[in-house]
Amino acid sequence: QVKERGKGHYRFYQPQMSTELLARVQTDHALREGLHRGEFELHYQPRVTVRTGQIDGCEALIRWHRPGTGLVMPGAFIPIAEETGLIAALGAWVLDTAVAQAARWAAEGRPLQVAVNVSALQFQQPHFVQDVAQALQRHGLPPRLLELELTESILIRDAEEALAKLRSLAALGVTLSLDDFGTGFSSLAYLKRFPLHRLKIDRTFIAAMPEDEADAAIVAAIVQMGHALAMEVVAEGVERAEQLHRLRSLGCDHCQGFWFARPMPAAALRAHLDGVPGAGTAG
Ligand code: C2E
Ligand code: MG
Ligand code: MG
Ligand code: MG
Repeated sequence: QVKERGKGHYRFYQPQMSTELLARVQTDHALREGLHRGEFELHYQPRVTVRTGQIDGCEALIRWHRPGTGLVMPGAFIPIAEETGLIAALGAWVLDTAVAQAARWAAEGRPLQVAVNVSALQFQQPHFVQDVAQALQRHGLPPRLLELELTESILIRDAEEALAKLRSLAALGVTLSLDDFGTGFSSLAYLKRFPLHRLKIDRTFIAAMPEDEADAAIVAAIVQMGHALAMEVVAEGVERAEQLHRLRSLGCDHCQGFWFARPMPAAALRAHLDGVPGAGTAG
């Protein structure tokens, strides 16, 4: 069986190919087409400063309007895009779209820092720093309004190369965050070595606190360590008032989670910021 892959490429399907593999190949194909057809959208989830209760930024989260399927969440396609390498092109689209949106909000007199998730493969591209600098320049965005969320895997893979890139990005004036902190395998020495501005505590540690005292103790330790290393600490996945209360008493700087707002399209976030009743309830 031969299936057209576009641009004159053909892919041969073995009859014995497992249905799971076939689904992955089909999804890869659909992702590539979807990128050309404009089927992706960024939703934005507000982040709140605990001390003031004010929204101080947001995180851009990708969604896919897959024809015939509906809205697809990133967990169902980002891993596939990472395996096939498409994440480089997809990540470039996310970066450009998020920077453009942040520049639009700034031009409208509502500056809001936008955080972009960066995959390891995207970060490893030799031109990644240049891509970031060019996106900022293209859209005229002040660098402090862009935050890059990196994962521990980025730091581990090629530490020297990563360090050089992070220094360049920090020199640009971009905010650098370590996402899903606590789930990876990097040594704590990395935190001292890399020019990171923020730690985002993974939501698996937030979920059962404050009732689970072990999780609460881990969160307390992360907050103290982050502050000792002159970093801000962000809690993700805050869903209940009790979690916010404990995080406040622990001195956590910022919170993000369904308790405040779900990720929503750009227009809904704008209405949410303007205090329009009922705004920000989108999924
Ligand atoms: P992440 O970067 O850790 O993003 C936070 C995830 O937690 C988001 O899921 C968000 O919707 C969800 N979340 C936020 N608040 C709560 C809460 O209170 N409770 C619960 N249960 N969940 C909450 P989402 O949008 O499905 O994204 C999942 C992951 O996919 C992200 O985790 C990130 O690793 C990846 N991802 C999303 N967008 C992009 C992207 O543009 N590029 C790359 N490379 N990865 C992305
Ligand atoms: Mg993130
Ligand atoms: Mg995270
Ligand atoms: Mg996470």
